[in-house]
Amino acid sequence: MRMSQMLMPTLREVPAEAEIISHKLMVRAGLIRKVASGIYSFLPLGKRVIQKIENIVREEMNEKGGQEVLMPIVQPAEIWKETGRWDVYGDEMFKLKDRHDRGFCLGPTHEEVITDLVRQEVRSYRQLPVLLYQIQNKYRDEIRPRFGVMRAREFIMKDLYSFDQDEAGLDESYRKMYDAYNRIFQRCGLTYRVVEADPGAIGGSGSHEFMVTAENGEAAVAFCPSCDYAANTEKAEAEPKDANGDGPENEQLLTIEKVHTPGVKSIEELSRYLDVPRHKLMKTMLYEAVYPDRDEVVAVVIRGDQEINEIKLQNILGCLHLVLAPEKVVRESTGSSSGFAGPLELKNAKMIVDHTVAQMKAGAAGANEEDHHLLHVHPARDFPEHIVADIRTVQKGDGCVRCKEPIDMVRGIEVGHIFKLGTKYSESLKASYLDKNGREQPMIMGCYGIGVTRTLAAAIEQNFDEDGIIWPVAIAPYHVVIVPIKTKDDEMMKSALALYDRLKSSGIEVLIDDRHERPGVKFKDADLIGIPLRVTVGKKTLKEGLYELRQRSSGQDSDHELPHLLEKIHDLIMNHR
Ligand code: ATP
Ligand code: MG
Repeated sequence: MRMSQMLMPTLREVPAEAEIISHKLMVRAGLIRKVASGIYSFLPLGKRVIQKIENIVREEMNEKGGQEVLMPIVQPAEIWKETGRWDVYGDEMFKLKDRHDRGFCLGPTHEEVITDLVRQEVRSYRQLPVLLYQIQNKYRDEIRPRFGVMRAREFIMKDLYSFDQDEAGLDESYRKMYDAYNRIFQRCGLTYRVVEADPGAIGGSGSHEFMVTAENGEAAVAFCPSCDYAANTEKAEAEPKDANGDGPENEQLLTIEKVHTPGVKSIEELSRYLDVPRHKLMKTMLYEAVYPDRDEVVAVVIRGDQEINEIKLQNILGCLHLVLAPEKVVRESTGSSSGFAGPLELKNAKMIVDHTVAQMKAGAAGANEEDHHLLHVHPARDFPEHIVADIRTVQKGDGCVRCKEPIDMVRGIEVGHIFKLGTKYSESLKASYLDKNGREQPMIMGCYGIGVTRTLAAAIEQNFDEDGIIWPVAIAPYHVVIVPIKTKDDEMMKSALALYDRLKSSGIEVLIDDRHERPGVKFKDADLIGIPLRVTVGKKTLKEGLYELRQRSSGQDSDHELPHLLEKIHDLIMNHR
């Protein structure tokens, strides 16, 4: 491609709206332009990278027996009502009506459409397993679209759905996808971690996320450097540290004592006022859990040094969402303000107690009376009517659930997510098949997503320097950029174009910077757009037959005669594609 003809609007200035490096560089390198919040056009360079990623994804899906289909973006409300997700999905769904007032949505995901297809077309165990996928735009009206295409409202996803006869079949399909995803992210040149994940609203029994490690990642990952445990903090479990044998095992049972704590509301203040360490305090928080048909007040009790994990809590309750209870509700349940809420004698509230609290023998808690707290509270004795569960967020330094060694944390960008769905959709949509004995059985499903456009942004987040993007060869928009120093020098242009033709005909993807610009401008753009190899054609080429080759990733320069140059380029590109 001749760069004089290409739509590649590079910018020197950093765009004001971009917060993170990948967003800044995607705008500066002319890969994307914003159309509306969370909605972008991809320009030629950006589109080429998308295609590279899609092709890698496609090859690996096909390799595992996936068959490509293309489902509609516009989906009828009826099938979403059949699974109950029309109402559950919430404001993230873009809904619309046709001229006859019939409801539709823009597909945020395709479980409904694919299950509807398969229930009609697949009837026998002989047709299973079947793995169907597509690569297509998805629509989610995210609360906070941000970071460019990283969290967009329109984005490209590869979604595969597996249909099996039984759990063993699902395990095998899941394993195939697990392997394929590893290959995909390795081929894209990414550093990532596979982590145990929370299956979330989609439901199901098992789930892994593929997290590209990056400082700007929105997700937090807890991992154990000693064994291979790694989990999204939405789900991660670990044992909190107790200060040196200061745990419940050494506590004595004492009778409850009410103490006057005027104006002492926060955990910090209470710890200081009572001179009791935070891990010996019980924090009681009231929530309102919202279900399709009702609301419920839930009191949650956690240690003073811990944080409540609302995702875990929501999963335990099975509610649609959770909100902190307003002060009025707190008063109705506790008879006091939230600063003095405690677990004893609550009215009309379900109680969930973190297991670290359940073990306590003598904790301090709110007294449900203004300006008072209780000492020596023993959950099993003083408020036995409660559910014990893990509802805390893990912290750095906690003990690993598998090997007890200290947990560490990294930030990550979720680029892929695989789920075992089981029969969640096949049951609600009645997708069944006839088994060997002619008996009707529900299909066992899995679903597997990769954010293609998010993967592109994540690749930049991991591969850049102060001059711009450094594309991994496999997903670079072009492999080589040829820079003739003087476009007005006919002989120089002739050499440059001859090289261009030579490389092109050998299957290398080449740009030639034939713009009438100063060399400095061209070099800057070549660095910014991150092409792996740059060949300079200048005086040395005409006089001595030497071409200067620069590798974007290492910044290494070397001069080569033509045959050696071609060989070197082939080595560097073809071996890394
Ligand atoms: P997140 O927790 O980031 O919102 P999710 O759990 O909603 O993601 P899935 O429904 O599992 O995502 O979608 C599969 C993949 O699609 C994700 O792993 C991610 O790579 C991509 N993806 C999801 N939401 C977005 C978005 N708003 N913009 C870009 N890519 C997205
Ligand atoms: Mg989401």
